[in-house]
Amino acid sequence: MTMIADNLQAVHARVAAACVAASRPVNSVTLLAVSKTFSIQAIEEAIAAGQHCLGENYIQEAVEKIRVLGHATVQWHCIGPVQSNKTRLVAEHFDWVQSVDRLKIAQRLSDQRPAHLPPLQICIQVNTDGGANKAGIAPAELVALAHAVAQLPRLKLRGLMTIPEPASDFAAATAVHMRARQLLNRLNAEGMALDTLSMGMSADLEAAIHAGSTMVRVGTAIFGGRPRPV
Ligand SMILES: *Cc1c(COP(=O)(O)O)cnc(C)c1O
Repeated sequence: MTMIADNLQAVHARVAAACVAASRPVNSVTLLAVSKTFSIQAIEEAIAAGQHCLGENYIQEAVEKIRVLGHATVQWHCIGPVQSNKTRLVAEHFDWVQSVDRLKIAQRLSDQRPAHLPPLQICIQVNTDGGANKAGIAPAELVALAHAVAQLPRLKLRGLMTIPEPASDFAAATAVHMRARQLLNRLNAEGMALDTLSMGMSADLEAAIHAGSTMVRVGTAIFGGRPRPV
């Protein structure tokens, strides 16, 4: 096996163990492999090892990879910041966008999603721990944004995504992830049918799964240390 295949197997084992510990079915969590900064060859190794969902942060870099690798076996998730001048590329190339935190960007994505493609699958990024300079909408503004996004014709709102600051221990990490879970529950109590809670990375996926994550986004534990900082 390649190193990447080995790593994928180890991450799947971590996810499965966390599901068992949380009394959840092991197939209730999707693994998103975060391949930002890694080569097409590295991604091909992951695909050969059965990886289906890939996450990318940098639009230009991602679009080059998507043009080469296509959509036959890969579902592409945009998890990085989306500026207005990049929405067309994102709408034309990705399957999911998890980093929507402004209505203006959502509107552009809906307007620019090509008619021959299925609706773009959307998560709203929420800033659950109040980091001042961080992306993500404040929890107090989430309900209004979610209702507005849900009206857009070429988008399908699936849930929430969070990137909390690293926590000191399992209990602290669980507590911050629980806030996202409660926000999702609240939207669903208002009649939405959201099924995706994208939270948990290499360092905190166990706590995220304990708190109800349905999608963990893992980069370094699969591909190794990144060649350049992010
Ligand atoms: C880079 C990144 C990840 C993966 O982080 P690792 O610590 O490498 O697992 C997950 N989510 C987002 C939004 C990222 O930018």
